[in-house]
Parts: sequence; C-alpha cells; structure tokens
Amino acid sequence: MSELIQAVRGMNDMLPEDAPLWEFFEDTVRAWLARYGYRQIRTPILERTELFVRSIGEVTDIVEKEMYTFNDSLNGESLTLRPENTASVLRSVVQHNLLYGGPQRLWYTGPMFRHERPQKGRYRQFHQVGAEALGFEGPDIDAELIVMGARLWRDLGLEDIALEINTLGDQQSRARYRARLVSYLESRMDELDEDSVRRLHANPLRVLDSKNPRMQEVVEAAPRLLDDLDEESLGHFEDLQRLLRHCGVEFRINTRLVRGLDYYNRSVFEWVTNRLGAQGTVCAGGRYDGLIAQIGGKPAPGAGFAMGVERLLSLLAEAGARPPAGGPDVYVAWSGASAEAHAWRVAERLRAAGAAVVLHCGGGGFKSQMKKADGSGARFAVIVGEDEAAAGQASLKPLRELSEQVRVGVDDLVPLIMQLRKV
Ligand code: ATP
Ligand code: MG
Repeated sequence: MSELIQAVRGMNDMLPEDAPLWEFFEDTVRAWLARYGYRQIRTPILERTELFVRSIGEVTDIVEKEMYTFNDSLNGESLTLRPENTASVLRSVVQHNLLYGGPQRLWYTGPMFRHERPQKGRYRQFHQVGAEALGFEGPDIDAELIVMGARLWRDLGLEDIALEINTLGDQQSRARYRARLVSYLESRMDELDEDSVRRLHANPLRVLDSKNPRMQEVVEAAPRLLDDLDEESLGHFEDLQRLLRHCGVEFRINTRLVRGLDYYNRSVFEWVTNRLGAQGTVCAGGRYDGLIAQIGGKPAPGAGFAMGVERLLSLLAEAGARPPAGGPDVYVAWSGASAEAHAWRVAERLRAAGAAVVLHCGGGGFKSQMKKADGSGARFAVIVGEDEAAAGQASLKPLRELSEQVRVGVDDLVPLIMQLRKV
C-alpha cells in the first residue's frame, strides 16, 4: 500500500458525524437571515491579490503574512485565496451595479483561507457567515446588524456572548488621534515589540490590536480615540447606543477595539465569549464608508459583520447541543431474483412521496439485512421477498416501536408510511 497523503495542515474535514451540528447551524442561520430580509450572494474563492491589498490594507496581519497568494501559471497574474469575503462582495456589487437598484442587504457563507498558526479556534481554512448592508448611512443599520447578532445567539441557544462596541470616528478625527497616539507610543519605544515598532508609523492604530500579552500594559495606557472624536461621529455613536438600549441589547464600550482590518470607520463591534480560551471573538464587524470607493465604485456607505463558524460550533458543542442524527425513514430489505425490480419500484415510489429511503445493496440474506436496517437508524423496514413481489405487496416492520409486522399492497404501503412517519 502507498503512504497516505494527509490533508493540508490547519484544514479540516467535516465528517458525517459532525454533519448534524453543521446543518443545524446552517439551517438556523438561513432562517435567521431571511427574517431580517438579507439576500444571499456568492463570490469566487479566488480573486486578484490587489483586491485584498487595497481593501484590507498593506500593514495588516492578513496582508503581511496570512494570505495564500500565487501566480497563475498561465498569465503570471497574482491571485489570492480569499482571507475574508467583504472585499469580494463589494467587488461584485460594484461590478454588477447592484446599488443602482437602491441599498442592499446581503449575506454570504463559505470557506476563507489564512496562513496562521493552527490551534483551537484558529485554522488555515475556516468558515464565515457574514452580512453586508450597503448604501445605508445612519446608525440604524449599525444597530440592526448588532440586534441581529443578539437574536442569532438566542436562536442557537447560546449564552455568555458579550457585546463590545467602539467608534473610530471619521478620517479627520482619526488623523488627530493618530498624531497623539504616535507621540505616546514613541515615548514608550523601549517597551514596543517588533511588530508594533514596524507599525508605529505605517499604521499606529494597529498597535492597539496587538495580541502580545507583553504589550497589554502599553495598550491600556494609550490615549483614547473617543477624546478626539468629531461631533458627527459622536452623534452617530450615541444614536447607536440609544437604539441598542431601546432593543434591550447590553454592551460595553471598549475604547481599545480597533479591529484588525484597515477599512473600518465609525462603529466597530465584537461579540466575545470567555469560553473558548484565547480565540474568544465569535463575530466582528463595523462600518466601512470609504471602502466601496476605495475598490473603484461610486462612493456609498456600508457596514457589516463576519462570524467564525468553527468557533460558534465549538460553543454549541460545549453547550451540549446534540441535533438528532436523522436516519432514513425506511430501509428496504429484499431477497430473491424476482424481488429485485419490485424492491426498486417500492423504494422509488416512497422517495417520490417524500420519504427518506435506503435500499439495501450488496445482497445477503434477510437476517443480515435486518441488522443493517437496525443499524441505519431507520424507523421502518420494508421487506420484499419473492412472495410479496408476486403479489404486488410488501411487508412493513416498525423497528423502533412494539407493533406487528403487516403485509399490504404497494398502493396502500406508500400512504401508510407517509401517515406513520408523521407521528
Ligand atoms: P482574530 O483576532 O481572532 O485573529 P480577526 O480579527 O482576524 O480575528 P476577522 O477577520 O474579523 O477576524 O474575522 C471574523 C471572525 O472570523 C473572527 O471573529 C473569528 O470568529 C473568525 N476567524 C478569523 N480568523 C479565523 C481563523 N484563522 N480560524 C477560525 N476562525 C477565524
Ligand atoms: Mg486574525
């Protein structure tokens, strides 16, 4: 035997035993987004590298060291596996002129790729569900995006997810703050780590986003952006808080919350839990009013969030969520040359009526087939022998309850099973 080729490090298989939890999550998410009027959009997994460099920002963890980038061997073009989906969604919206029809509420889901050090809650291929609300200027849409989050945690049955919010102001207030922050950081130059020294001039706000424990004291004592805020951004932030209070959503203002991507302005927020160790942020987002213009579209405001599916699934598993594995309704066992065609016909008629049916494959006697029927989790076995086939009948045997096996004509079998599977 040859040596097995393993999966790429940090990239996971979803095994069938995990499927019920993923499907429960995906079904819940779909129903939730529909209730808020968001429509799905799907974009390619590969985009031109320039799209991410221009939107996420050159001096960010993602662009500096996390992207899977390669040159297309045919034309040498630099391409990147998407590390996030906001840039691609906006690219698509601009390319297809979607904002021409007015503001848009959109959502997406799918795999994202980042070359990070794999650990619990941090993978190289991971999944996000995200929403983007484009063309809305006011704080009401920021509040909507946050209130939606609170509802999803309830729908999923998750507790202990806390909301942190902050505002980054407009460009001018950020410029004022930046100057103040740089002189503060320069005064503590000796204590900065390598990343922070490099970011000090290129992108000083990112220093506040440092994950290095050694840097926390420096970050804590830094000046606050809130003190440099322009009137309008302050009003926007206060309106957002008023709406959240009105909806009964609790929050904490975290003045160090800057987010790891360059494109945010005004409202930013994170949903965090302390149940996942260091990887505690399950959902993050904010407003990005300059981004559409930055990637080449007609200027329009935007806001959105992205949540980490794997982190939410670990929370669900930890909270004891065990969605039913959902076996088939019926296992069809058959034996004898003349029974084969009849068994297939019975199975297809049941499927046409909407039942989930496993038709036994691989031969063998009734005894071993009934064992497989039991192991499949099916509620009923339908047994087709040569006698039944000759009479146009089948035997129905309930596998999960104590009741007798009955033999009925196929015309009666289908409605009988459809009736029984409802109770
Ligand atoms: P972190 O600070 O944990 O690196 P981030 O700021 O890079 O997160 P975002 O780009 O805001 O993350 O992505 C939104 C969400 O996607 C995160 O809050 C997290 O739940 C999830 N996420 C991000 N990176 C990963 C990863 N490598 N593996 C699993 N989930 C991830
Ligand atoms: Mg990150």
